[in-house]
Amino acid sequence: ISHHHVDPESERVRVAVRLRPKNSEDLAGADYADCVELQPELKRLKLRKNNWSSEAYRFDEVFTETASQKRVYEVVAKPVVESVLDGYNGTVMAYGQTGTGKTYTLGRLGKDDVSERGIMVRALEDIIAGTSASDSVEISYLQLYMESIQDLLAPEKINIPIVEDAKTGEVSVPGVEIVKIRNLDHFLQILQLGESNRHAANTKLNTESSRSHAILMVYIRRFAEEKDQTNIDQQKDTSTDRHGRRLSTIRKSKLLIVDLAGSERVDKSGSEGHLLEEAKFINLSLTSLGKCINALAENSSHIPIRDSKLTRLLRDSFGGSARTSLIVTIGPSSRHHAETASTIMFGQRAM
Ligand code: ADP
Ligand code: MG
Repeated sequence: ISHHHVDPESERVRVAVRLRPKNSEDLAGADYADCVELQPELKRLKLRKNNWSSEAYRFDEVFTETASQKRVYEVVAKPVVESVLDGYNGTVMAYGQTGTGKTYTLGRLGKDDVSERGIMVRALEDIIAGTSASDSVEISYLQLYMESIQDLLAPEKINIPIVEDAKTGEVSVPGVEIVKIRNLDHFLQILQLGESNRHAANTKLNTESSRSHAILMVYIRRFAEEKDQTNIDQQKDTSTDRHGRRLSTIRKSKLLIVDLAGSERVDKSGSEGHLLEEAKFINLSLTSLGKCINALAENSSHIPIRDSKLTRLLRDSFGGSARTSLIVTIGPSSRHHAETASTIMFGQRAM
């Protein structure tokens, strides 16, 4: 895998933390103090250990509960989107306990209020604006539950295999629907369809959607002119444009936006049968992702990407010339101190 000319800063995972505003449970729990104090100007977060001491952690960015969706997008995702438009692969992921705002941050449609639109919609908006009519923007939307891939755009398709090209290392899931996006409204419809399928599928399986990873894959193909030789070593192909002109080079790139399963540890004690299997599998994908992120952060020569389906899917969009952004989401209440602390540590280990 060639590393192109990417500055070293951009090769590691960039990690931001976002605090969810207090909800009614937090406000009702008067006996639960806040367990974090944010210092956004120092890009620092202090996690309370007990009544008299706390520990400080630095992140690439710290978003308080008043941070807008627009700002979160611009800091966390926009640089990744721009690099994807330049022909590199990229990944944006949200990690955190259920109820802390992963789906709000990534998947919010903002139908009534466009200011609430999340990263998926804003990314597509920029991608559509940044490509021309002869380029192609396609998406797939899938969920990964218990190491099985299900198509969220065609939910009857389950157990879909991942295919890896031995020569190029390119990862694909040819069994899933690929929808060519015409415009932003079209994308909003498709995303909404995926969301309702996700909800229905999980109701049928009698599981919470918090147990599965939702993955939006965006494929961009741009026709580059022959003289433009930057970043085109990823794929050579030939085609003709609408006017019958020969276009000899296609630049392909891919953006993955991953709404991870809830990071809360499923209690294995007392779980049996299906629930115990589920607990093991969920922990497998997240644990394996954590190991890969650590390996990447430490510049290790061995990234254990084959250990789970999640990391196999990320293989060509993670590390190397790909840009990766992680946003970890937390709640304010000390009621969930243990989960908040483990989420913060996950983010720290990625840096
Ligand atoms: P998760 O996907 O991590 O389980 P959600 O995104 O579903 O969490 O968020 C849980 C609830 O909190 C939702 O009702 C969501 O609208 C709300 N919420 C989360 N983050 C924010 C935020 N930054 N601003 C306002 N509401 C939020
Ligand atoms: Mg969610």
